[in-house]
Amino acid sequence: MDTSYMDPFIETLGREALTQIQLKKLQMMLGPVLDTNSFYKKKLHTAGLAHPREIRSLDDLRKLPFTTKQELSGDQATHPRYGSNLTFPRERYTRIHQTSGTTGDPLSCLDTDESWNWWARCWATVYEAAGVTPRDRIFFAFSFGPFIGFWAAYQGAQHIGALGIPGGGMSSYQRAKAILDHNVSVLVCTPTYALHLAEVAEQERIDIKGSNVNITIQAGEPGASLPATKDRIETAWNARCYDHAGATEVGAWGYECQAQAGVHLNEGEFICEIIDPATGEPADDGELVMTNLGRVGMPVIRYKTGDRAKLQREPCECGRSFARLSGGVVGRIDDALIVRGVNVFPSSIENIVRRFHEVGEFAVDVYRRKSLDEMELRIEINEADPAEVASKVGREIRNALGLRAKVEPVPAGTLPRFDLKAKRFTDHRQDDDTKPSS
Ligand SMILES: [Zn+2]
Repeated sequence: MDTSYMDPFIETLGREALTQIQLKKLQMMLGPVLDTNSFYKKKLHTAGLAHPREIRSLDDLRKLPFTTKQELSGDQATHPRYGSNLTFPRERYTRIHQTSGTTGDPLSCLDTDESWNWWARCWATVYEAAGVTPRDRIFFAFSFGPFIGFWAAYQGAQHIGALGIPGGGMSSYQRAKAILDHNVSVLVCTPTYALHLAEVAEQERIDIKGSNVNITIQAGEPGASLPATKDRIETAWNARCYDHAGATEVGAWGYECQAQAGVHLNEGEFICEIIDPATGEPADDGELVMTNLGRVGMPVIRYKTGDRAKLQREPCECGRSFARLSGGVVGRIDDALIVRGVNVFPSSIENIVRRFHEVGEFAVDVYRRKSLDEMELRIEINEADPAEVASKVGREIRNALGLRAKVEPVPAGTLPRFDLKAKRFTDHRQDDDTKPSS
């Protein structure tokens, strides 16, 4: 197997030595943070931490309190405009981005020159692991707004010396044309958009399958680690599809290597924990908690990401010692829907629907009717016999989840498309007690 590393020393280091490096970096960060960052100074002093040297092990770190998104947004509301999680004077910061606001008010995140370089290095790790080289031409099929993800990816492309081509302000048709025109070899976008762009190209008879694209990197939302979605993207683009995971508040923390066997945690730049969300105790399957080590100006310490993941510590075929998440981020901690007593994760539905190549976009709605939960799927189908496909999808869902769902075919192109953070699941049970007549 081809293996390329961003930093072969760190990425293959034994667990004990790696932990020592993480602790060293954490202590170095805590120095200025305990000194001048009023948010963490107060929080950590209250928790009894006065000096970085008091953190001698990961167990000591685990004694510190978690940080939540609500806390950070609350802090920005009380200390307008950027909150008090700032280690340096305002003039040291050179970049501002914000979270997508899918889970509450958008949070503003500031970077200094140093931490922006750190972002670029983290993204360089993502590229190197996927086998992207300075010879590559990377296309970013994304509108460059205040969201951080693709800006950092763009900076990372420069860091490894590849040619970055921004695809902001373009229609999907123009993007597909540009990919051929510039001989693009790497596509970076969300998994949803990779499929949508392939669909548009096919309609417009633009041969993206025959293009030079041989690597796609999927960012901005989970999905590319789901076997059925990955397979679909790889077939549509005739390329290898790599999942990437990160967050505006945290950094670009996860990447897939060429073994494509789970998402590696970049443990050289982050301390990653998985906890039981109910008890806060360490777990192998639960909520991902992150401490970033290179964003001194606006750090997060033991930040509850809300991402659900399963830790895998066995060594990877690629030779990296960094732990992996099996199946990447498998969802949000709070996004399991309980339908008639069955726990339904959006990712399980997606993995079933994507196996049907006749099906394009899809949407799931859950209603309550006469005190009974009802799950309804709308699926876009182009086939001559949509009812047949719909009943097959319904059967698969019943077999896999033990749950009856109404599956309704709708014409192709009628469901919403998403540029970032697809929202295909709607729970109407809180709205009212009736289902609109269909
Ligand atoms: Zn690996």
